[in-house]
Amino acid sequence: MTLLRCSSFYRTEPVGFVDQEDFVNAVAEVRTVLTARALLQALQQIETEMGRVRTTRWGPRIIDLDILLFGQEVVQEGDLVIPHPELHRRRFVLVPLNELASYVIHPSFGVSIQGLMQRLQDESRVERIV
Ligand code: ATP
Ligand code: CA
Ligand code: CA
Repeated sequence: MTLLRCSSFYRTEPVGFVDQEDFVNAVAEVRTVLTARALLQALQQIETEMGRVRTTRWGPRIIDLDILLFGQEVVQEGDLVIPHPELHRRRFVLVPLNELASYVIHPSFGVSIQGLMQRLQDESRVERIV
Protein backbone atom coordinates (compact mmCIF):
# COMPACT_ATOMS: atom_id res chain seq x y z
CA MET A 1 0.00 0.00 0.00
CA THR A 2 1.48 3.38 -0.98
CA LEU A 3 0.37 6.66 0.53
CA LEU A 4 -0.32 9.17 -2.25
CA ARG A 5 -1.89 12.12 -0.42
CA CYS A 6 -3.29 12.99 2.98
CA SER A 7 -5.80 15.68 3.95
CA SER A 8 -5.38 18.14 6.80
CA PHE A 9 -6.25 16.88 10.26
CA TYR A 10 -9.51 18.04 11.85
CA ARG A 11 -10.79 18.20 15.40
CA THR A 12 -14.40 17.02 15.22
CA GLU A 13 -17.27 16.83 17.63
CA PRO A 14 -18.70 13.33 18.29
CA VAL A 15 -21.92 12.56 16.37
CA GLY A 16 -24.43 9.99 17.59
CA PHE A 17 -22.86 8.78 20.82
CA VAL A 18 -22.03 12.32 21.94
CA ASP A 19 -20.90 11.98 25.55
CA GLN A 20 -17.19 11.56 24.74
CA GLU A 21 -14.12 13.57 23.77
CA ASP A 22 -13.62 15.16 20.35
CA PHE A 23 -12.12 13.02 17.60
CA VAL A 24 -9.35 13.75 15.11
CA ASN A 25 -10.30 12.90 11.52
CA ALA A 26 -8.37 12.86 8.25
CA VAL A 27 -8.61 11.17 4.83
CA ALA A 28 -5.74 9.49 2.99
CA GLU A 29 -5.49 8.46 -0.64
CA VAL A 30 -3.57 5.21 -1.13
CA ARG A 31 -2.57 3.09 -4.09
CA THR A 32 -2.80 -0.66 -3.60
CA VAL A 33 -2.87 -3.94 -5.52
CA LEU A 34 -5.09 -5.46 -2.81
CA THR A 35 -8.76 -6.20 -3.37
CA ALA A 36 -11.20 -4.18 -1.27
CA ARG A 37 -11.68 -7.13 1.08
CA ALA A 38 -7.95 -7.69 1.52
CA LEU A 39 -7.54 -3.95 2.12
CA LEU A 40 -10.16 -4.10 4.90
CA GLN A 41 -8.23 -6.98 6.51
CA ALA A 42 -4.97 -5.04 6.24
CA LEU A 43 -6.57 -1.96 7.86
CA GLN A 44 -8.01 -4.06 10.68
CA GLN A 45 -4.58 -5.59 11.27
CA ILE A 46 -3.05 -2.10 11.53
CA GLU A 47 -5.79 -1.11 14.00
CA THR A 48 -5.00 -4.17 16.14
CA GLU A 49 -1.24 -3.56 15.97
CA MET A 50 -1.84 0.02 17.11
CA GLY A 51 -3.64 -1.35 20.16
CA ARG A 52 -7.30 -0.95 19.28
CA VAL A 53 -9.55 -3.07 21.42
CA ARG A 54 -13.09 -3.48 20.07
CA THR A 55 -15.65 -2.27 22.62
CA THR A 56 -18.80 -0.19 21.95
CA ARG A 57 -19.38 0.83 18.34
CA TRP A 58 -19.02 4.61 17.88
CA GLY A 59 -17.37 4.82 21.30
CA PRO A 60 -13.87 6.17 21.98
CA ARG A 61 -11.10 4.34 20.11
CA ILE A 62 -7.45 5.04 19.54
CA ILE A 63 -7.70 4.51 15.79
CA ASP A 64 -10.46 3.81 13.23
CA LEU A 65 -9.50 3.09 9.62
CA ASP A 66 -12.46 2.92 7.22
CA ILE A 67 -12.59 2.48 3.45
CA LEU A 68 -14.56 5.44 2.10
CA LEU A 69 -14.19 4.87 -1.64
CA PHE A 70 -12.39 2.18 -3.67
CA GLY A 71 -12.08 3.68 -7.13
CA GLN A 72 -15.56 3.49 -8.64
CA GLU A 73 -16.29 0.07 -7.11
CA VAL A 74 -19.56 -0.60 -5.32
CA VAL A 75 -19.56 -3.40 -2.73
CA GLN A 76 -22.68 -4.41 -0.75
CA GLU A 77 -21.81 -7.28 1.55
CA GLY A 78 -22.66 -7.90 5.18
CA ASP A 79 -19.28 -6.92 6.54
CA LEU A 80 -18.09 -4.64 3.74
CA VAL A 81 -20.00 -1.75 2.19
CA ILE A 82 -18.30 0.62 -0.26
CA PRO A 83 -18.75 3.55 -0.65
CA HIS A 84 -18.90 3.81 3.14
CA PRO A 85 -22.65 3.95 3.93
CA GLU A 86 -22.41 7.03 6.16
CA LEU A 87 -19.95 9.02 4.04
CA HIS A 88 -22.56 11.39 2.57
CA ARG A 89 -24.11 12.13 5.98
CA ARG A 90 -20.96 13.02 7.91
CA ARG A 91 -19.37 16.43 7.88
CA PHE A 92 -16.27 14.99 9.59
CA VAL A 93 -15.78 12.73 6.55
CA LEU A 94 -16.82 15.04 3.73
CA VAL A 95 -14.70 18.04 4.79
CA PRO A 96 -11.35 16.16 4.64
CA LEU A 97 -12.48 14.06 1.65
CA ASN A 98 -13.42 17.21 -0.23
CA GLU A 99 -9.82 18.44 0.14
CA LEU A 100 -8.54 15.46 -1.88
CA ALA A 101 -11.45 14.47 -4.08
CA SER A 102 -13.93 17.27 -4.54
CA TYR A 103 -14.57 16.34 -8.20
CA VAL A 104 -14.71 12.58 -7.63
CA ILE A 105 -18.15 11.13 -8.29
CA HIS A 106 -19.80 8.98 -5.61
CA PRO A 107 -20.48 5.82 -7.67
CA SER A 108 -23.87 5.03 -6.10
CA PHE A 109 -25.34 8.55 -6.13
CA GLY A 110 -23.71 9.93 -9.27
CA VAL A 111 -22.94 13.15 -7.37
CA SER A 112 -19.50 14.69 -6.75
CA ILE A 113 -18.09 15.00 -3.23
CA GLN A 114 -18.52 18.75 -3.58
CA GLY A 115 -22.19 18.14 -4.50
CA LEU A 116 -22.65 15.95 -1.42
CA MET A 117 -21.14 18.76 0.69
CA GLN A 118 -23.74 21.18 -0.64
CA ARG A 119 -26.57 18.80 0.29
CA LEU A 120 -25.14 17.97 3.73
CA GLN A 121 -27.47 18.36 6.74
CA ASP A 122 -24.91 17.53 9.46
CA GLU A 123 -23.83 20.80 11.08
CA SER A 124 -21.48 19.36 13.68
CA ARG A 125 -18.20 21.14 14.42
CA VAL A 126 -15.22 20.30 12.20
CA GLU A 127 -12.17 22.52 12.68
CA ARG A 128 -8.87 22.23 10.86
CA ILE A 129 -5.96 21.77 13.24
CA VAL A 130 -2.97 20.83 11.07
P1 ATP B 1 -19.07 3.35 11.16
O1 ATP B 1 -19.19 2.25 10.13
O2 ATP B 1 -20.39 3.95 11.52
O3 ATP B 1 -18.03 4.38 10.81
P2 ATP B 1 -17.22 2.14 13.01
O4 ATP B 1 -16.15 2.49 12.02
O5 ATP B 1 -17.07 2.66 14.40
O6 ATP B 1 -18.65 2.60 12.49
P3 ATP B 1 -16.28 -0.47 13.45
O7 ATP B 1 -16.62 -1.11 14.76
O8 ATP B 1 -14.90 0.10 13.26
O9 ATP B 1 -17.38 0.58 13.10
O10 ATP B 1 -16.47 -1.54 12.28
C1 ATP B 1 -17.57 -2.39 12.23
C2 ATP B 1 -17.53 -3.22 10.95
O11 ATP B 1 -17.81 -2.42 9.81
C3 ATP B 1 -16.20 -3.84 10.60
O12 ATP B 1 -16.01 -5.06 11.27
C4 ATP B 1 -16.29 -4.04 9.08
O13 ATP B 1 -16.52 -5.38 8.72
C5 ATP B 1 -17.51 -3.23 8.69
N1 ATP B 1 -17.39 -2.39 7.50
C6 ATP B 1 -18.33 -2.37 6.51
N2 ATP B 1 -17.98 -1.53 5.53
C7 ATP B 1 -16.78 -0.98 5.90
C8 ATP B 1 -15.92 -0.03 5.29
N3 ATP B 1 -16.22 0.55 4.09
N4 ATP B 1 -14.77 0.30 5.92
C9 ATP B 1 -14.48 -0.26 7.13
N5 ATP B 1 -15.26 -1.17 7.76
C10 ATP B 1 -16.40 -1.53 7.16
CA1 CA C 1 -15.85 4.68 11.27
CA1 CA D 1 -14.28 1.29 11.36
